[in-house]
Amino acid sequence: MADCVFCKIAGGEIPSKFVYEDEKCVIFNDIHPKAKTHMLIVPRKHIPSIADMEDGDEKIAGHLLHCAKNIADNMKLKGYKLSINVGKEGGQEVFHLHVHLMSD
Ligand code: 5GP
Ligand code: ZN
Repeated sequence: MADCVFCKIAGGEIPSKFVYEDEKCVIFNDIHPKAKTHMLIVPRKHIPSIADMEDGDEKIAGHLLHCAKNIADNMKLKGYKLSINVGKEGGQEVFHLHVHLMSD
């Protein structure tokens, strides 16, 4: 997606430091952290939001949660919140699916 900031980050067009990356997703720190740890788990595929998921995307969505768990384990986080904003009215600002991982 040409004008999508998370596509540009995932594709390397905007140089960013990844906490983790694999063939399906990237994880990086939120630019405006709302907790001591605030990372975004972002699929490489441009899916605008949960509301736009197509058949087969459930594998990607599951993968994002699995990666969130692995990062949290690696960082030895005792507890954390995972959240997904869906749609403008749901607080979504960047229309490329992402999971927030937050922990204080
Ligand atoms: P949303 O409200 O869409 O669920 O969350 C979007 C998040 O992306 C916000 O927490 C915002 O701070 C973060 N964000 C927006 N643009 C950038 C960016 O260019 N780089 C990074 N690292 N985070 C961003
Ligand atoms: Zn995108």
